Amino acid sequence: MIRITDILDKAGEYLTPADLEMIEKAYIFSASVHKGQVRLSGEPYLTHPMEVAGILVDLKLDSAAIVTGLLHDTVEDTLATPDQIEESFGRDVVFLVNGLTKLSKITFGSREERQAENFRKMIMAMSSDIRILLIKLADRIHNMRTLEFQTPENQQFIAGETLDVYAPLANRLGIYWMEVELEDLAFRYLHPEHYYELSTQIAKRKDEREKYTEEVEAILRKELKKSGLKGEVEGRAKHFYSIFKKMKEQHINFDEVYDLTAFRIILDSREKECYEALSIIHSLWKPVRGRFKDYIAMPKANNYQSLHTTVIGPHAERMEVQIRTMAMHEWAEKGIAAHWRYKEGGLSREDENEQINKLRDLFEIQQDLNDPREFMDNLKISLFPDEVYVFTPHGDVKSFPKGATPVDFAYSIHTDIGNQCTGAKVNRNIVPLKYKLQNGDTVEIITRKGHHPSRDWLRYAVTSRATSKIRSWVKTEGRKMSISLGRDILEKEFKKYNLNLNQIVKSDESKKICEEYSIATLDDLAANIGYGKVSVRHIVGRFLPKKKRGFLDIVSEKLKRKPAAPLSRGVSLTGIDDVMVRFAGCCDPLPGDSIIGYISRGRGMTVHTADCSMIKDMDTARLVDVQWNLKEKHTYPAHIRVNCKDKKGLLAEITSAMLAKDVNINHAEIDTTPGKSAICNLEIEVNDLKHFKEVVYELKKLKSVLSVERIKRAIPDPIEKEVLG
Ligand code: MN
Repeated sequence: MIRITDILDKAGEYLTPADLEMIEKAYIFSASVHKGQVRLSGEPYLTHPMEVAGILVDLKLDSAAIVTGLLHDTVEDTLATPDQIEESFGRDVVFLVNGLTKLSKITFGSREERQAENFRKMIMAMSSDIRILLIKLADRIHNMRTLEFQTPENQQFIAGETLDVYAPLANRLGIYWMEVELEDLAFRYLHPEHYYELSTQIAKRKDEREKYTEEVEAILRKELKKSGLKGEVEGRAKHFYSIFKKMKEQHINFDEVYDLTAFRIILDSREKECYEALSIIHSLWKPVRGRFKDYIAMPKANNYQSLHTTVIGPHAERMEVQIRTMAMHEWAEKGIAAHWRYKEGGLSREDENEQINKLRDLFEIQQDLNDPREFMDNLKISLFPDEVYVFTPHGDVKSFPKGATPVDFAYSIHTDIGNQCTGAKVNRNIVPLKYKLQNGDTVEIITRKGHHPSRDWLRYAVTSRATSKIRSWVKTEGRKMSISLGRDILEKEFKKYNLNLNQIVKSDESKKICEEYSIATLDDLAANIGYGKVSVRHIVGRFLPKKKRGFLDIVSEKLKRKPAAPLSRGVSLTGIDDVMVRFAGCCDPLPGDSIIGYISRGRGMTVHTADCSMIKDMDTARLVDVQWNLKEKHTYPAHIRVNCKDKKGLLAEITSAMLAKDVNINHAEIDTTPGKSAICNLEIEVNDLKHFKEVVYELKKLKSVLSVERIKRAIPDPIEKEVLG
């Protein structure tokens, strides 16, 4: 069992007396709060934090990390509080302890294989300080070393988690010895029969292997010396799990695994000599084709560097040789933890900078830090700064871009869950839909049947899946609304003339209309009427006998060939591009009028003139600023009242004035008053306010015209009435 004096002795080699004092204080604190607690092994609980601290001191971590090793289970398992720890050991330590406490609440469990990568990332993301991850790995190493005292179920669970999550984490950090130890220990519990078979067989051939190892080592030493290369040569058995993996991958028996021993040449010098050593080996023994790997020129993702080759050795057996420099070896064995070594000044400044650059690449750290000390101080890094990892209530992990909200989460599960989402619980507390998800949150979505998305959600959704689903809902719903609205309008209008819509649907004339407007179904026609793109009066006119149609004929010729206007019709709303726009029938806004938008749920936006009398009754929260943004010409309806002396040919005069200004008349009604004057109400289509004024000017030129006024009817549309309730 490790003793505190062992830890202090080792720490004394590289830490200050003040650091040692702090470590001793942490030891006393930990001993007092864990007092009376025992491990399953029967040992006092304190042995665990001490072993963890022992591993950390071997990794040569700083005093805060070692102190945290001693205290890492105190908040979780004893009455000690974070405040107490902060008071006695400072903010750095309490930060690390809190990080570990948070991590301890995450268990990987028996989830599916594909989840492992997300778990690894989540753990890295939650280890906002790299020391948290190293302490967690040290903790796991000791728990694995003492796994025999756990129940068989726990052994399977912990060993599985170790193999899926923690060994790969050690690999990512490049700490080879941890990876190997975690893998072999997990292997022993997950596949005990294979493990013991393998270890017996390896033991059986132990003498033979040792003799062989010595023989090859001697040859290599001699040859290197001849070429003037300085360095060490070592041969050692590959670890069990890697042999097992090889047998499984290649479907071979133990007897067929030849390269149980791997040789390693560690040179004192630079990488150029590695290639020299390689050529020596290849001239001694024949290389196996396709087995040479140059990880110096192309380092592994965790920055591992070496030359690997397999050759046919002195007894015609396959033999693997790795060649690397001291610096590469240090990295290969200790990975990120090797960095603390370099702080002691054993290596040149140049080497140190090289290592820092590697570390920086490894963790994609953006800052440009030239001073190693400054760099170390800034190791509180976000390893995955752009992602956030959260749990479903079933414990599955999902990753999202940073800033994602419950809306994104809901849509990631199912479109219906997204559409019907009314709220969310995060870690069992109700949160607003705009809540930003945090690493490790457990998110539950509250839904209600019949509930539907709101345009507002576009402001908090960040995933493209959620935004496109919300947009498409708004669009389809807008269409549904327009269809039913259009049908309503059609039915009412037909009824006025005693026409039956259902009969008309089947008529040839309605097929003809569909062709003319290039639309497929009556629903499309209804939608177009609902959107206000097609005039209902014109459609009705088509089914009326000639004489009843009268004036309608003159006005409709241009209209029917006109292509459908795009939805936005020249109005732009900041931040929302494809909003469906309707123009309010109450005020007929024209380009040039100042305008305001009113957002109706799921029905797009209705545009009113800024001075429309309807606005004062509207929910101000749903009024938005809009601007005219005319990229192409559209026409807009306007209402006009012409007062004139009644006279034959009046209509023809007005019509020709309109045609002169290239204006369509959608509708005209003439009331003749007894005083021989006539009031002509027209709905016309103009391009903008200027165009409208030109029309008014043109009309005023007519001798029979007494006055002309623009009418803002201030009668709400059916759709608007409904919205206003
Ligand atoms: Mn622990």
